[in-house]
Amino acid sequence: MYEIVIIGAGASGLMVASKYKEKSIAIIDTNPKIAQKIKISGGGKCNVTNAHVSEQNYLGDPLFIKTVLSAFDQNELLAFLKLRGCEPLMRKDNQYFCKNSADEIINIFKKEINNCALFLNQSVLKITKKENFLIQTNRKTFEAKCVVVASGGLSYPKIGASPIAYEIAKNFGHTTNATSPALVGFTVQKDQFWMKELSGISMVVGIRVGDKRFCQDLLFTHKGISGPVVLNASLYWNKGLIAIDFLPNGSLKKYLKNSNKLLSTALPLPKRFIKAFLTHLDIGDKPVSILNEEEVQKLSQLKNYTFAPAGNFGYSKAEVTRGGINTDELYATNMMSKLVKNLFFVGECLDVTGELGGYNFQWAFSSAKRVTLSAD
Ligand SMILES: Cc1cc2nc3c(=O)[nH]c(=O)nc-3n(C[C@H](O)[C@H](O)[C@H](O)COP(=O)(O)OP(=O)(O)OC[C@H]3O[C@@H](n4cnc5c(N)ncnc54)[C@H](O)[C@@H]3O)c2cc1C
Repeated sequence: MYEIVIIGAGASGLMVASKYKEKSIAIIDTNPKIAQKIKISGGGKCNVTNAHVSEQNYLGDPLFIKTVLSAFDQNELLAFLKLRGCEPLMRKDNQYFCKNSADEIINIFKKEINNCALFLNQSVLKITKKENFLIQTNRKTFEAKCVVVASGGLSYPKIGASPIAYEIAKNFGHTTNATSPALVGFTVQKDQFWMKELSGISMVVGIRVGDKRFCQDLLFTHKGISGPVVLNASLYWNKGLIAIDFLPNGSLKKYLKNSNKLLSTALPLPKRFIKAFLTHLDIGDKPVSILNEEEVQKLSQLKNYTFAPAGNFGYSKAEVTRGGINTDELYATNMMSKLVKNLFFVGECLDVTGELGGYNFQWAFSSAKRVTLSAD
């Protein structure tokens, strides 16, 4: 019998274990090692948070998100890490990364959970409740006074992701909002197949999706488009149109002014890109001075290229899962279920999804710190 069983040894589960390390805790994870997503995140350096974090960087209920973030904000997270010997550096776009490797954070948690009983290579299958909770795995049954579900979303199934959080929530009467892959690349429809030929090219563009606009790197791939700007756009995309500004730093007029240069030289864009784009528009690479009105009109698409992506690269490539457990049914002050006493949900399994830039780890850690056991 444990006071707390934590399902998932990822960012949020480990932070809960660290907060309650004096209690008797069992942590269960499918993976053979803890913190596998921290390990692979941020290109191996873990983008742990951002200098500017607010509810506006997330999809989900703004009031719930604001309340949870206020419990443990980015400065408190950085202070927590610093106190334990890890000082992430701010790199581009206000993002904080580990100096050398994500292991700097993982090693902290290894120490923090020293006193916990760790059960790896073991998957939770079901939870029931009589007086206490019974947590059934593929190996044994655990008993606990409190359960913290920190098992994340559906992204990256190859490192342990499973729908268990949603199943547990549903079995205890909770509702979940539709889930889909997010922070993920877009596949393209036939009309945009010209993009696939540009695989490997990266350039700064602006993307508008709904009322959100991002200006960052876009990467053409053999499947479609990816890169930070596309990942961010994917969070807010709902099967409609998106618009790309391939010249985010100036007007088309500015580049086409009084020029006898060839289009491919006058426009500050990668040559391979502009050639493919001109072919797509059915315009030859000609001197700017001889463009007719119709051609200039077609070229204006460089500032507002509107199309509907075919879909996305799916959960195997998505950094996060959009949607999840309905936060209306949890107390934002302690992350406990409003329906079942001593059942807590934290991290990515909730219907809260952050933009690219450290916001998802910040959410995992803030929501974990919010967990407050009833007797506290
Ligand atoms: C490639 C990649 C890069 C990323 N980079 C960043 C980044 O730089 N910055 C950022 O903020 N976010 C990043 N993210 C997102 C971030 O990793 C997640 O949002 C965050 O890890 C969520 O934390 P969590 O604790 O809720 O879930 P997770 O970290 O996913 O942990 C959940 C754990 O539960 C375990 N589990 C699942 N089902 C079961 C079960 N049935 N039984 C037992 N255990 C189970 C899993 O094995 C896993 O270890 C990245 C994600 C990916 C995939």
